[in-house]
Amino acid sequence: MKKGIAASKGYAIGKVFLYEEQEVIITNDLVNDTSVEMEKLTHAIKLTKKQLEQIKEKAKASLGEDEAAVFEAHLLILEDPEYIDSIQNEIKDNKANSLHAIESVTKGLVALFEAIDDPYLRERAADIKDVSRRLLANLAGHTIGLEINEPETIVIAHDLTPSDTAQLDKEKVVGFLTNIGGRTSHSAIMARTLEIPAVVGLKDITSCVQNGDTVIIDGTEGLVIINPDEATIRTYRDKQIAFKENQKQLKKLKDVQVVTKEGKKIEVCGNIGKPEDVLQVLEYGGDGIGLFRTEFLYMDREQAPTEEEQFESYKFVLEKMEGKKVVIRTLDIGGDKTLPYLPLPIEMNPFLGYRAIRLCLDQIEIFKVQIRALLRASVYGQLAVMFPMISGIEEFKQAMEIVELCKKELEKEGRSYSEAVEWGIMIEIPAAAVMADELAKHVDFFSIGTNDLIQYTLAADRMSEKVSYLYNPLHPAVLRLIKMTIDGAHSQGKWVGMCGEMAGDEEAIPTLLEYGLDEFSMSATSILGAKKKLLEN
Ligand code: PEP
Ligand code: MG
Repeated sequence: MKKGIAASKGYAIGKVFLYEEQEVIITNDLVNDTSVEMEKLTHAIKLTKKQLEQIKEKAKASLGEDEAAVFEAHLLILEDPEYIDSIQNEIKDNKANSLHAIESVTKGLVALFEAIDDPYLRERAADIKDVSRRLLANLAGHTIGLEINEPETIVIAHDLTPSDTAQLDKEKVVGFLTNIGGRTSHSAIMARTLEIPAVVGLKDITSCVQNGDTVIIDGTEGLVIINPDEATIRTYRDKQIAFKENQKQLKKLKDVQVVTKEGKKIEVCGNIGKPEDVLQVLEYGGDGIGLFRTEFLYMDREQAPTEEEQFESYKFVLEKMEGKKVVIRTLDIGGDKTLPYLPLPIEMNPFLGYRAIRLCLDQIEIFKVQIRALLRASVYGQLAVMFPMISGIEEFKQAMEIVELCKKELEKEGRSYSEAVEWGIMIEIPAAAVMADELAKHVDFFSIGTNDLIQYTLAADRMSEKVSYLYNPLHPAVLRLIKMTIDGAHSQGKWVGMCGEMAGDEEAIPTLLEYGLDEFSMSATSILGAKKKLLEN
């Protein structure tokens, strides 16, 4: 058994098709007759365009307009003078052979795109690589693509490009496995769109199997079983049937609006850590974004993201949600989340220490960059901003003073922002829950952060295995605090959401609904299950 990253849920049992592309041998030999090379190139471009047109049409039919757009982008690359002229110039001016000309121009362009900080522009590098790979194969006379004739096939490859994935014939391919990739890699996203089970990031799966082997994919747990026995196959056949039936039922709920018996609309939203996660929330029918953990924008890098970078990320999410509510939380660093470029004091209890809003109110320059970016992005959708770890009203007031300061700066600079932004706080410290009715007078909304609220209420570190038996979302003390928070908000006519894991906990949902919670926010894959539970009540 092997474990990888669960990229697309479900179960598949099938025979292995190992997908290995023929390597194109490229030399740097110079050519005498450049006109022959130019002709070869023109022919390869024509052929590539024809293939891409076909793939695009196929993708439109199987995946929809949005997913097919990537091939429109690929076709545009083949018409981009910066790309094509540069290849032609390499041949004409430097007598390069056509393969070498394509390779060197591609490398240069890819390096340029990969150096850009914006993740969306960086993705263009993958598109250019994909187009050049096809061009090179066509020039070399290789066939490219997945011609699969057998039903119940499981494709196993080092990696699958968007054009590979789009060619997968759902009638024959029941799942795929790759050595590399993550949950948000293009192939993973497409697997979810196609709704075929997939496990990625398996490191060396291509060298563990042979053509014709039987393989079970457990896309829910991220597991792969190679040449299973009969009993295991039977177990997974049963799981497969149960899963398909459940999915069929859940899918019907994607566009269903949850409304209570009393006629009140309940929002079921998604939590995200990276801007591109928004796509998955949409895929599962989220009514909005209930928590964008912006600290992830600050992680895995050498320095804090600039105002411009943050602005682009927030704008992207707001635009994708097309007017649906997006709640963005300001930087929540400290506790278990640290940054290499931001030294924090060594503390005995970092979860009770210098973190979140406490740090931001102390290091105003860092905070201002984020608030300015948020305000600038606010014109692109329905933005709500919340501050984490608020223990009392003074912190909220201080944060809002900084918001006002940033607004004035932007006005002076002639930049616009929306006056419709809602400003709220997370309720994750018991003191805030107890004082909810008072706090509600000053803020536009609350979002209950149960992950922290539970640990502070029960004095049970959320990271400690030893005390995990105490960490109980349904503890009466926790429930009382949640109820106080909801009642407190409603007494002042404010709405209240929950973005801790508890919001997606099917056992807790009926109680939260009974208490009057207005918005439930959770990881995207829990949305449909939560909708089902909410509708049952
Ligand atoms: C919470 O505490 O419930 C929460 C949503 O925030 P985080 O898990 O990021 O601390
Ligand atoms: Mg928290």
